[in-house]
Amino acid sequence: MGNDQAKKDLKIILFLCSWGPHAAFQQLQDKDCRIPAQVKMVRIPCSGRVSKALLFKPFEMGADGVALIGCGSGACRYGVGSITAERNTADTRRILDLLGLSRKRLRLAAFSPEDPQGLLDFLNDFVEEVAAIGKSPVQRPSKPEQPADSKAVIKEIIQKHDVYACQDCGKCSSACSLTLAGKQYSPRAMANAIIGGKLDDPQVQKDVWACLTCGICYDRCPSAVNFPEFIRDVRAVLKSSNGNGNEAHGGFFGSLARTMTSPELKGRHWHWLPEDIKTDAQSKVLFFGGCAPYFDVFFKNHLAPATLDSLKDSLRLLNFFDVHPILLDDERCCGHDLLWTGDRENFLKLAKLNIEAIAESGAEEVIVSCPEGYRTFVKDYPEAGLEMPFKVTHIHEFLEREISKGSVGFKPLDKKITFQDSCRLSRHMEMTDSARKLINRLAPESFTEMQDSGAGAICCGNCGWSGCDSFSKALQVKRLRQAKETQGDLLVTSCPKCQVHLRCAMQDPFFGKDLEIEMMDLTSVMAKTICWE
Ligand code: SF4
Ligand code: SF4
Ligand code: SF4
Repeated sequence: MGNDQAKKDLKIILFLCSWGPHAAFQQLQDKDCRIPAQVKMVRIPCSGRVSKALLFKPFEMGADGVALIGCGSGACRYGVGSITAERNTADTRRILDLLGLSRKRLRLAAFSPEDPQGLLDFLNDFVEEVAAIGKSPVQRPSKPEQPADSKAVIKEIIQKHDVYACQDCGKCSSACSLTLAGKQYSPRAMANAIIGGKLDDPQVQKDVWACLTCGICYDRCPSAVNFPEFIRDVRAVLKSSNGNGNEAHGGFFGSLARTMTSPELKGRHWHWLPEDIKTDAQSKVLFFGGCAPYFDVFFKNHLAPATLDSLKDSLRLLNFFDVHPILLDDERCCGHDLLWTGDRENFLKLAKLNIEAIAESGAEEVIVSCPEGYRTFVKDYPEAGLEMPFKVTHIHEFLEREISKGSVGFKPLDKKITFQDSCRLSRHMEMTDSARKLINRLAPESFTEMQDSGAGAICCGNCGWSGCDSFSKALQVKRLRQAKETQGDLLVTSCPKCQVHLRCAMQDPFFGKDLEIEMMDLTSVMAKTICWE
């Protein structure tokens, strides 16, 4: 394809503020000026209303460039639009860099009605710049196929998870995280309604997306009805017939994961890595980090999570034990969130790409630090019929294995600690002991369990970036209060999303400092205190 043709094929989305800049654009149209044909204009009320999810969405759909045009600083009719737009653009540009798409594909500018020529020059220049980077490697992700007979599929799902075995004892409803947070919600009633063919009932559909898939109900069920997995499979049927669920943050994280299904996308997932961390492409051990780098960028302005620390510190601990692992720059999301929000098709694409890349690296063992990634590799990939020519180990298991060989001690930790179990490790993988074994090796001032712990621990309030509502918040508040009740001053976590979600509640201005407690991932606590004896 010649250069001109490649340039002609570019797709550029222009988000244009209805106030000043639109007037400038209209003048270009009125004067029949040659607006580049690659540019498709979308009118918006204010540049500040274009969220990161909306800025990113065109890239998921295969756009080659996006320009956001607002009013200049001080000219915004809504006051802070220009500042918000600046922030959202800067964060989305950093995310494009991590994905390997190049930040230059997204530009923010401001034009007044008096400057149509400036706007035209900008558009021409942007098209040239995007042409120089080349077409986006992102292919529009597949839409889930609708089953020919949804009723038959639902029947199969009911049978697969043995939902008929329900004795109607109500233990699930009385233990359900959402019910305990005050929501009118009953997993048992929902299961009965679906068995009774009422999947189309609007309340049932709402409830299917509200479930946190935290698994307490399954843990308590005497008939072993695996309710979270039942819900997961029902969601897949709903997704194929009527689209999106109840996605938090405008569906940004779903978009991000689906974007990663493009095989040609070459990420720069680890380019932020500090120089002191040693890696080796010839190693037999590979470290799989997951999506934490994206969380740090996405939430940095209001939650300031330190989820990258858990990756850095996991790697430092591996180095401490002389493991210099392989890191895959084009590592993709494991697909956990897509699977649990019903997008099975794109989950499978991610799974295959990850397995292929790891197999090509020659690694014999993959160490995973994220609980969701761990469950996905150990349970969901094999259940999807995918073969993995490597073994998968959670970082806690690796650390316990190495530390138990002896010669390692821990510097005293001047903190009273408590621990937040992640649902994927504690309930889904029945791994409540490994973190506690490690905690018991530390030398904190004290370690006190929260009122609900281990398999009965309270959920961080959200899963798969779906269904976040006031009841999620109530759960988080309850959990943070339990942490404070231990008199602890450090809440140790094991999942990057627990960090994000609990921090979210902690920073609610209505609570002031009431819920604040220092939080750190277990790997970070260990990396800071470990020493050879
Ligand atoms: S706990 Fe199990 S058996 Fe009891 S109502 Fe719930 S699903 Fe049915
Ligand atoms: S998985 Fe959690 S939120 Fe969903 S029904 Fe069970 S206990 Fe309730
Ligand atoms: S709890 Fe906060 S961070 Fe988590 S999904 Fe809801 S709004 Fe987002």
